Amino acid sequence: MLNFDTLVIGGGLAGYCAAIKSAQQGLKTALISQGEGSLHFASGSIDVLAKHPTTFENVRFPLSAIEELPADHPHPYRKIGALETQASLDWFNGLMADQGIHFHQLDALENHWRITPFGTLKATWLSQVFCALLDDKPCDYERVIIVGVDGFRDFQPAVTAENIAKLPQFAGIAVKQAMVVLPETKANDGLRAKRAIDYARALREPLMYNAMRDQLMRIATPRDLVIMPSVFGNGDGQEYMARLQRDTHLQFHEVPTMPPSLLGIRIADALHRAFVEAGGTLLKGDAVTRAQMAKQETVDGQSQWVIERVHTRKMADLPLSAKHIILASGSFFSHGLVATADTILEPVFGLDVDAPAKRDDWYADRFLDAHPYIRSGVITDDNFAPSIQGTTVSNLSCIGGVLAGFDPVKEGSGGGISIATGFAAAHWHARALRAENATIGTQQQLDNEAVA
Ligand SMILES: Cc1cc2nc3c(=O)[nH]c(=O)nc-3n(C[C@H](O)[C@H](O)[C@H](O)COP(=O)(O)OP(=O)(O)OC[C@H]3O[C@@H](n4cnc5c(N)ncnc54)[C@H](O)[C@@H]3O)c2cc1C
Repeated sequence: MLNFDTLVIGGGLAGYCAAIKSAQQGLKTALISQGEGSLHFASGSIDVLAKHPTTFENVRFPLSAIEELPADHPHPYRKIGALETQASLDWFNGLMADQGIHFHQLDALENHWRITPFGTLKATWLSQVFCALLDDKPCDYERVIIVGVDGFRDFQPAVTAENIAKLPQFAGIAVKQAMVVLPETKANDGLRAKRAIDYARALREPLMYNAMRDQLMRIATPRDLVIMPSVFGNGDGQEYMARLQRDTHLQFHEVPTMPPSLLGIRIADALHRAFVEAGGTLLKGDAVTRAQMAKQETVDGQSQWVIERVHTRKMADLPLSAKHIILASGSFFSHGLVATADTILEPVFGLDVDAPAKRDDWYADRFLDAHPYIRSGVITDDNFAPSIQGTTVSNLSCIGGVLAGFDPVKEGSGGGISIATGFAAAHWHARALRAENATIGTQQQLDNEAVA
């Protein structure tokens, strides 16, 4: 059996944040993940809270809105509180900067508007540095130039231009479209109908990069805002954008493309590097399938479940155990939650789930309304400990998209909740372990002693 202080199940934003924070605190930490998380599909901006969880009114200051959530609200942010949420976001921002991924935001911890690939605005909190930060005031660019790349179908400048022209922030500013044509070479086999990642690969070639750079300099001036799809780098795209800016002196706004989204992949790669640097053990491409549990009695006579070991798909004969297990398996998108004909369930441990009783109640009538099934997820106490048929699982915490009580789509809160719950679960657990370890020592210490 492989033993750890902390075992994190799921390698999305939440799982990586928990695993890195845990490893940074000196705990012997493993992360097991069956696939990539939703970061590979994300915009690369971190949404903390764009709309109020109950009224869905626009939120300007997310931390103030979190502070005002009623004491009985099931929302994960209410359980963490505004101060720790802020600490987690500051930690994440610093972690990313250490890995060369730089973010910026408006002053006073305010939400800003991010321009989407469709030329609409979306409220978010932290954006990568080559993403323009808009507020409600008019912009002072001379022109907005929407630049497509010939043959690249995942970004349509005409759609972006039409919508941008309607935004009050760009009133009176000329909105133009342009197309960069990259040379077709044998090596890139022509770039038609390929994805952003294929362009990123091709643009590593000096011939391609120079063609892009030279055409951009003919198309735009430093007084314009150049909006273009994110097609540089695979993980290292900010380095290419910085170079492009140095070479051209242009102001850029990168927009995410259809998946894979290079802006999201940058974050995923940086998290991966940070976890390895922190000394964590990565078990990629494997899934936890089931657990062995025991029922125990607490000192005050209550029953609780304790997970003794978990089994994975590929290591059938080698179960894993940990003092603290963190479930970060995501929502429906990553199969952390599964919908059958009439129920919604958590498939690994069979945890108690909050979901509408009847399938008819899963959906709202209108497509853009808040669909009740999206708020479904694992029920936890205020320390993120779940239960099975009402009995707490004492050494398991649930974080991120698998949790109940929030609507990441309607609220615009997915990234922030993953960071805050991941950070809090690892932080709170390390604090508890430190107290306990005054007598028994961490798994790392026990291993070191055994080796010595
Ligand atoms: C398409 C899309 C785009 C989004 N865009 C944004 C955005 O731009 N900004 C923003 O702030 N938020 C965005 N979000 C929301 C946000 O990304 C998610 O809410 C958040 O990242 C969820 O993170 P997570 O780690 O909980 O889950 P996920 O990212 O879904 O990761 C779950 C991980 O668990 C693994 N897993 C599942 N079951 C098992 C198992 N049994 N064993 C081992 N591994 C398992 C999966 O393979 C996956 O790696 C987006 C969400 C989606 C779906």
